[in-house]
Amino acid sequence: MGQTGIGVIGAGRIGFIHCDIITNLVSNAHIVAINDVDEKHAAQALKLTGARFEADPQALIEAPDVDAVIVTSWDPTHEQYVIACIKAGKYVFCEKPLSNTSDGCRRIMEAEIAGGKRLVQVGFMRRFDEHYRALKRVIDSGQMGKVLMLHCSHRVPWPGGAKHTTDTLITRAVSHEFDINRWLLGEDYATAQVVRGRPSSYAEEGLEDPQLVILRTESGVVIDIEISMHAKYGYQVSCEAVCDEGTVRLASPAAPEIRRDLTMSQAVCPDWHERFRRAYEVELFEWVESVRNGKITGPSAWDGYQSSAVADVAVAAGEARRELEVAIGTCPEFYRES
Ligand code: NAP
Repeated sequence: MGQTGIGVIGAGRIGFIHCDIITNLVSNAHIVAINDVDEKHAAQALKLTGARFEADPQALIEAPDVDAVIVTSWDPTHEQYVIACIKAGKYVFCEKPLSNTSDGCRRIMEAEIAGGKRLVQVGFMRRFDEHYRALKRVIDSGQMGKVLMLHCSHRVPWPGGAKHTTDTLITRAVSHEFDINRWLLGEDYATAQVVRGRPSSYAEEGLEDPQLVILRTESGVVIDIEISMHAKYGYQVSCEAVCDEGTVRLASPAAPEIRRDLTMSQAVCPDWHERFRRAYEVELFEWVESVRNGKITGPSAWDGYQSSAVADVAVAAGEARRELEVAIGTCPEFYRES
């Protein structure tokens, strides 16, 4: 089998990182075509990969040398490109969110189920992070007894640019948390609520930042997630499981410990792409392998839908200022095995 040909739609920040990983680290795949409405972004990625520019995303999806597509354009465009890939019978890796609405995720699932084959993987890269995988291994081993609670935080020094709102803090920034905690515990959510506290001095007028999302799973595990988008002091993702027999905490990649002038210091990650760089690499390496094997094993359209649908309930719970039930249906048979 020759190299797997990949087309990329959207070559901005994360699209460029994925182009870099495929080009420089994944030996059995190469980027053959790139589409982006932003010529500057496209030019940088074309230079890096040696791929051709494809002005029409539909032509890119249908091109005979494109075996699989990476969708890294802006959120509202995901649904149309993912459905076009499914219709063309192409594998598609779509960055989260799968769609900017849960109805859009549902339409993607319907199209995939109608096609009869799993083609879609969603970019929930935390599942490929070595530290999250180690945490899951400890939980799954049973040595800690039952998990009772998870304490989590996602602190982001947001650089500005695309504006966040009180709702997008939940729908965009917490979306990884909705997915990873479901995956860690192997169960779905039963209720959601959001507690909004004192806004950061750095938050724009009217933006409720930070917020606390509190979820309860079907078996009763309580999960609290702090989201802070104005964490100028450094990027941080944390997760601690409180279990019957003890606690287990997600490790962080550690920088060297420096002792100098009677002070000890240790640098922290400045941003998400440094913290999760290795996870993106493993994610794409395993995705290409699964495309070549003809069996997608990573996060599915159902996982993408779950994350969006729970986010919708959390946003409504924040507005209602009370705990709401998460009633978003059961997993279709089609997605049960994956
Ligand atoms: P970005 O830097 O703005 O890049 C997106 C690129 O897609 C831009 O060049 C944009 O052009 C282009 N684009 C917009 N609409 C398009 C269309 N209809 N067709 C083709 N290209 C289009 O954004 P980003 O930060 O890379 O984020 C891209 C996606 O990845 C988002 O959905 C985001 O949620 C997701 N993401 C995921 C992670 C993760 O950790 N998994 C991390 C970062 C981002 P313009 O600049 O002209 O708009």
